[in-house]
Amino acid sequence: MSNPATLIIARGREKSLLRMHPWIFSGAVGRLDGEAPAGATVVVRAFDGRFLGRGAWSPASQIRARLWSFVEDEEIDAPFFRRRLTAAVALRRDLGLMGEGEACRLVNGESDYLPGVIIDRYGAVVVCQFLAAGAEAARETIVDALEELLRPATIWERSDAEVRKKEGLRPRTGLVRGRDLPELVEIREHGHRFLVDVRQGHKTGWYLDQRDNRRVVAAMTNGKSLLNCFSYTGGFAVGALAGGAEKVVNVDASEAALALAERNAALNGLAGPRLLNHRADVFQLLREFRDQGRKFDRIVLDPPKFAEAKQQLAGAARGYKDINRLAFELLAPGGILFTFSCSGLMEPALFQKIVADAALDGRRAARIIGQLGQAADHPVALPFPEGAYLKGLICRAE
Ligand code: SAH
Repeated sequence: MSNPATLIIARGREKSLLRMHPWIFSGAVGRLDGEAPAGATVVVRAFDGRFLGRGAWSPASQIRARLWSFVEDEEIDAPFFRRRLTAAVALRRDLGLMGEGEACRLVNGESDYLPGVIIDRYGAVVVCQFLAAGAEAARETIVDALEELLRPATIWERSDAEVRKKEGLRPRTGLVRGRDLPELVEIREHGHRFLVDVRQGHKTGWYLDQRDNRRVVAAMTNGKSLLNCFSYTGGFAVGALAGGAEKVVNVDASEAALALAERNAALNGLAGPRLLNHRADVFQLLREFRDQGRKFDRIVLDPPKFAEAKQQLAGAARGYKDINRLAFELLAPGGILFTFSCSGLMEPALFQKIVADAALDGRRAARIIGQLGQAADHPVALPFPEGAYLKGLICRAE
């Protein structure tokens, strides 16, 4: 094998790498000594020649390299990926998430020290996303290791996330190894059964990051009415109905998501007059409900990512404020709002301020009675605060 190319960091730009942050932005690149195709492993050195790490070169991306390792004698080979995957699976075992038929995120990219690699498990089906040039180059090696470690029935690929474009990669989806994928995959979560659409669903099919929060909402909804906004396939709804909710209204813009929400309720013996699936734009429907004077005891707001880039933050803030204000207006006295933001760019303090402004505008006094985040199978590596994206507030209106 020829010598790997060496990436020399611009003078004085190595500080974040010394703090083990895995990204090298284009502005921090001094020069590349040698040739490196996209995804190739390069040795990373400071301007003075000091070893900093080994990473994957990605010439098309503003994130010009992502570091695999900061350890000088660690080669980026098949045993390396086996070690990383083994450690990632060990965490999920410790979390009690590896039971038969259960679902969890097995590999959470940078925060499992595998930049650009997302791997979700739905029972015997494993779904991969390779979202950066280095992840793409390591695809076969990672899949081999995954097969050896877990012996899944099916390894499926959903590398169709938008971010691949920024890495100069085209989307790829389909069967990678094993048996063909059933049309829907059944999983268990908190003892409930759910059908997951791995082929067409959002992300890899299911919002695993909300697992713990579904239980929190369910525990506070006994005997209450719940308006479940941005319901997707009804994860919050099934938990709430099983927890004794008097009535649940799911709202989503997607017909397919709502059809699956109905099937998921039925699968748990919970379909019936207590559940209503409403296809609508949440922004509009909340206004209609307000004008009709409708009230709910509990409201979940779990919108999609409103801010993908910094320039979109102001618009995102307006969107969050709008739906949160309407939600406060719809809450019955003593009602509880579970409000989320999955935009990583929106800092928790700013989100809290927006929710506070929304309550003021909606003329409701309210208190925060709980703070929520992403489930533990979505860890946040301490050097990588960008990994914390999901935040939620539980607010009780007076
Ligand atoms: N709470 C869900 C995940 C929500 S994902 C869960 O626990 O699984 C966000 C959802 O919002 C998607 O299903 C998407 O179809 C829906 N959506 C996006 N914009 C919308 C809008 N303006 N009105 C209604 N639904 C919307």
